Amino acid sequence: MNKFFLYNTLSRQKEVFKPKFENDIRMYVCGPTVYDHPHVGNARPLIVFDLLFRILQKLYKSENVTYVRNITDIDDKIIETSQKQNIEIGQLTKIVTKYFHDDCLYLGCLNPNVEPKATEHISEMIELTKKLIELNYAYVESGHVYFDVMKYEDYGKLSNKKIDELVAGSRVEISEIKKNPVDFVLWKPSTDQEPGWNSPWGKGRPGWHLECSAMSEKYLGKEFDIHGGGLDLIFPHHENEIAQSNCANSTDSFAKYWMHNGYVTVNKQKMSKSLGNFITIDELKSKYDGQVLRLAMLSTHYRQPFDWNDKILEDAKKILGKWYEFYSQETIEINEENLNPLLDDLNTPLYISNLHSLYDKASKGDRQSAMQLSSSCKLIGLFNKDLETWSSSTISKLIDENEIKNLLHERNIAREQKNFAKSDQIRELLNSKGIAIEDKDGKTNWKYK
Ligand SMILES: [Zn+2]
Repeated sequence: MNKFFLYNTLSRQKEVFKPKFENDIRMYVCGPTVYDHPHVGNARPLIVFDLLFRILQKLYKSENVTYVRNITDIDDKIIETSQKQNIEIGQLTKIVTKYFHDDCLYLGCLNPNVEPKATEHISEMIELTKKLIELNYAYVESGHVYFDVMKYEDYGKLSNKKIDELVAGSRVEISEIKKNPVDFVLWKPSTDQEPGWNSPWGKGRPGWHLECSAMSEKYLGKEFDIHGGGLDLIFPHHENEIAQSNCANSTDSFAKYWMHNGYVTVNKQKMSKSLGNFITIDELKSKYDGQVLRLAMLSTHYRQPFDWNDKILEDAKKILGKWYEFYSQETIEINEENLNPLLDDLNTPLYISNLHSLYDKASKGDRQSAMQLSSSCKLIGLFNKDLETWSSSTISKLIDENEIKNLLHERNIAREQKNFAKSDQIRELLNSKGIAIEDKDGKTNWKYK
């Protein structure tokens, strides 16, 4: 097997991926906080880590890869939304989790092996907090439990921040009861109106960072291979996860590789709920097949910003429509040459540019390239619908009169070159798009069926 390189945020360089345990690859990705429809910015980690999951499965066999992605179903934003909309928290999180799952399906994402919900792991979070208090890494103050950042000398390693600078830069609020402004909350008290669980420190609820430390440990162990999420999670979320897990488990290697996808931007500004410059994934469903968004996103390298505009989707839609001409049910082994870009820190732009070359060769009648194209599309989660389903779906319909004429022209050339496989393929394609053709007196007529 060729070496698989991944960029590790922790070391700030590409490293050869070496699993901690043979034939047992473990990956944790921070999942959504379920309070509202996911937007296009949220789609990016879903697509990127789905791609990584697929590659790991290919390299190490699917039964040897465990992918855990949590659902954060307790959080201040959830409480706030439930109050605003006057809907019970359990009801809200259930509805939004359903939206999220629908979106994952739309984007063609494989299901993770485990999808733990925070509210179902409160006892693990309480245990972890107890342990940190016992080991003197955390302290209790008026029903709150805080992590004592000063006790962990490696704090700031992932985000490349120095504790002194963080202390100097942080605002101290009057109500603060922390020893140090950079200390973060592990557990906080809940009022009667807020959801809460009994704990040694009174009725309360966990801090967000604690959730991921507790759930990753439960399903992947104290040390695992890959921890992923969006760039905005590096600090403080992942930094705090590292502090909690390394200190509780006396390790310095909670997760070995830290991977972060870049932002989705709109006019160079990060797409976010708070800025209001977002488009929900749901809004795209009536216009585009989910594969279109997947192809568009993968056309940019995952660590680069992905600048959102409609043209990108229109282009991806056209490309996918063309590539579908060579859809094949059969899957073949992908050439090393075609696979290699993915092994270089998921270089999807290069991979996709190779797919364009395969398409060109396939168009000239090279069957092997056509098969490579189809199988290579499947590897990155494209071609998840067969040709018939794709063609009959109204949102994938691309065919207008010009395109019909172009295809007929291409078919005539193919026929002149005696490339009957290709000419039949075009007939099939048109047929599947509801166009019937008839060759008569040296001319080809077409009509809508
Ligand atoms: Zn997390």
